[in-house]
Amino acid sequence: MRVLVTGGSGLVGMAIQHVVKEERGGYEGEEWIFLSSKDANLMSMKETRDVFRKHQPTHVIHLAAMVGGLFKNLKCNLDFWAAHEVGVVKVVSCLSTCIFPDKTTYPINETMIHNGPPHESNFGYAYAKRMIDVHNRAYFEQHGHCYTAVIPTNVFGPHDNYSIEDGHVLPGLIHKTYIAKKEGKALVVWGSGTPKRQFIYSLDLARLFLWVLREYPEVDPIILSVGEEDEVSIKEAADTVVQALDFKGEVIYDNSKSDGQFKKTASNAKLCSYLPEFRFTPFKQALKETCEWFVANYDTARK
Ligand code: GDP
Repeated sequence: MRVLVTGGSGLVGMAIQHVVKEERGGYEGEEWIFLSSKDANLMSMKETRDVFRKHQPTHVIHLAAMVGGLFKNLKCNLDFWAAHEVGVVKVVSCLSTCIFPDKTTYPINETMIHNGPPHESNFGYAYAKRMIDVHNRAYFEQHGHCYTAVIPTNVFGPHDNYSIEDGHVLPGLIHKTYIAKKEGKALVVWGSGTPKRQFIYSLDLARLFLWVLREYPEVDPIILSVGEEDEVSIKEAADTVVQALDFKGEVIYDNSKSDGQFKKTASNAKLCSYLPEFRFTPFKQALKETCEWFVANYDTARK
């Protein structure tokens, strides 16, 4: 089993590297190759073909994506074709809960992906990601391949993008709290603090990714998330960051900033039916570890 990981240096890729290392380089008979954008431009057909021919993977974890950028994820098409060409037996791609229909019932589950238009703010990204599921089904029907996808909720952890302007909420809050503490200023949380999110620790996600690669038998995607009961409000998330970084200053909510979607509650019933014993790292502990990583790596962290 030779596993090629695209996007191997990002938030999820680094977490998978960490977990594979913990297992002393993966299970017996596994070889791991982590690619970053420096190794190949996956938007180039030639470079994609060359890198797949060079490594001849039997399995692929496809994480590379232009996160946040509209339209650009269409490059995924090339990877599937290249994977098929060199005879890859399994591909696991990464979708996101923001690709689900805008108008929906909750909790969201795996059967609802194509049930209506996505939110207009990210329709290019959402349709490109939905096409991965279409490809998976088509490759199964035409060639019998087991190409599948996972759908994580909001991921956080070491090696995230801690940019205040462009990052997601937890890395943004961690960075802002760090600075507020250093400069003796107030922490400004954007929006009302009432929206709710399900956060998944990148190391938990990495462990689940490896299970999907090795054992999950379906072509249909699977949501990788904590339970609905573990959804937290942005205010609770901010309070947890404040506690983890031992910030004693004032916390202000800036209601002039957007709240975004109020919730995107996803069901992890399918995951629980496969892995009833799996235990997620408690949110508080995972966030504490993430804050410690950020403080220790402040100079080199992406921000
Ligand atoms: P989403 O889950 O796709 O909406 O993306 P985010 O991870 O960016 O979460 C956005 C939610 O966090 C919204 O309710 C924001 O109002 C709230 N929020 C509060 N403070 C911040 C911050 O510093 N950065 C970001 N990105 N969101 C924040």
